[in-house]
Amino acid sequence: MTSDVLEELSRQHWMHDLLSSLEVGIVVLDREFKVEVWNQFMENHSNLRPSQIVGTCLFDSFPEISADWLKVKADPVFNLKTPVFLIWEQRPYLFKFGCNRPITSELDFMYQNVTLFPLSSLTGKVERLCMLVYDVTDQATGRLHIEGLNEKLTNVSRLDGLTGLYNRRYWQERFEKQFKLARRRGAPETAIMLDIDHFKLVNDTYGHQAGDKVIQALANVIKQCVRETDLAGRYGGEEFAVILTDAKLDDALQVAERIRRAAEATVVEHEGQNITFTVSLGLSEFNESFDNEMQWLDRADQALYKAKEGGRNQAVSL
Ligand code: GH3
Ligand code: MG
Ligand code: MG
Repeated sequence: MTSDVLEELSRQHWMHDLLSSLEVGIVVLDREFKVEVWNQFMENHSNLRPSQIVGTCLFDSFPEISADWLKVKADPVFNLKTPVFLIWEQRPYLFKFGCNRPITSELDFMYQNVTLFPLSSLTGKVERLCMLVYDVTDQATGRLHIEGLNEKLTNVSRLDGLTGLYNRRYWQERFEKQFKLARRRGAPETAIMLDIDHFKLVNDTYGHQAGDKVIQALANVIKQCVRETDLAGRYGGEEFAVILTDAKLDDALQVAERIRRAAEATVVEHEGQNITFTVSLGLSEFNESFDNEMQWLDRADQALYKAKEGGRNQAVSL
């Protein structure tokens, strides 16, 4: 062999080593999507050796890749000589490869960014495209994790820590929107204010901790008696506000009565003692004469005051 040939062979050898050691998938495809190059990264993750896939159509080995879709994506690469980027945010992966990260065990596939770019022949014609497949699992899971945390934080900032119902600030925000909606829609909606009877006595007799348990128990009663679409919040210490959507006063009175009875029947255990309690409720149905949402809520509060005056453990409407 001449030294030129030897040199060329040596060059091909280290070029091959270079392509093998890259932590990036390299695939070369012709216009018929027949595979011409399949590097070590692709072999490792697909368990397909180059001898098994080179010379065959890519879609035969990966039927999950939509041929029509990829052909549309590759069209500008072949015909306009422009690169195309496929990013994980739009499509998590092109090749469904397993993900061998022990920590992110909830994940069973590799997120990928893929670049397609044209390979020109000596005549300048684009006969092939090169596909680079990047493993971006760490980046993707990092981002998804942060998004998940943000969502949790948003939820935490809306909820009351003791009861898990909406806190006053968020309830008020939603209530304002609900008021505007009620005005536009004209569907019936009823506000309920409720307050635990003689709650000071619970605290004084059994202690503040026992009082907290009673507040939690009442919150659970409310959760069980209202619907997903209703708006329930902890308005003050032992005071709750609920907007029942699509509920006329008669319907709302039934819900209020259910809450009242369920609260009365609830037994809260604290340090071997059984604590019972009752609640008073004030109701007001939305009507067009309210100038703002606080007028509506004030009216429910006046009804609550009447329920207290009337002897407590009852629902009153105004
Ligand atoms: P009424 O029947 O008229 O409502 O009588 P009440 O004793 O319940 O009177 P009020 O509603 O004014 O009592 C509120 C009490 O609730 C006063 C306060 O110490 C107590 N409280 C407020 N927030 C909390 C809390 O988060 N936990 C506990 N344990 N007590 C609270
Ligand atoms: Mg009270
Ligand atoms: Mg009160």
